[in-house]
Amino acid sequence: MERVYIGLGSNLAEPREQLRDALKALADIPSSRLVAVSSLYVSDPLGPPDQPRYNNAVAVLETTRDPLTLLDALQAIEQAQGRERKTERWGPRTLDLDILLYGDRLIGEPRLTVPHYHLHARPFVLYPLAEVAPDTLQLADGRYLKDLLAACPFEGLERVGKAL
Ligand code: ATP
Ligand code: MG
Ligand code: MG
Repeated sequence: MERVYIGLGSNLAEPREQLRDALKALADIPSSRLVAVSSLYVSDPLGPPDQPRYNNAVAVLETTRDPLTLLDALQAIEQAQGRERKTERWGPRTLDLDILLYGDRLIGEPRLTVPHYHLHARPFVLYPLAEVAPDTLQLADGRYLKDLLAACPFEGLERVGKAL
């Protein structure tokens, strides 16, 4: 079993329900077990500012699925929840499921970069991640989560605090 951290985001069609439904779907992925979920956060959008704020959380999955097969499963869940892929980068979406960390693997495939390339710059990823990861967490590339947090202000983010 490897431990995978998954970032969830939604800003369309009842975002909190989208995240709840996504968690149920994550729990149903074969050869996998959903072991922890952060509390709910609300964040300002990246990219185009004329879109609703996001709901975000981070989930922890233990899995024996290989990374690309897991990515397929996550993309199928996004599709099932009405994700439309448009040309606009970071536009509004019903559901985004990103693989943040996959055990201690460094992955550089055309379809999959792990650790997620931009996690260091995203408070809506780092703060919920810190709730469900050990304080001493070291990324596969050597960086420490606590250093990334120290360099990433808690800005544009609200911890709603509620369980999902
Ligand atoms: P960002 O990646 O900046 O958060 P996004 O989540 O909106 O943007 P998507 O449209 O969800 O981007 O995904 C674009 C592509 O990113 C996917 O087709 C997928 O193959 C690729 N990808 C690369 N690395 C990852 C990863 N760690 N997790 C999820 N998708 C990834
Ligand atoms: Mg994303
Ligand atoms: Mg994505």
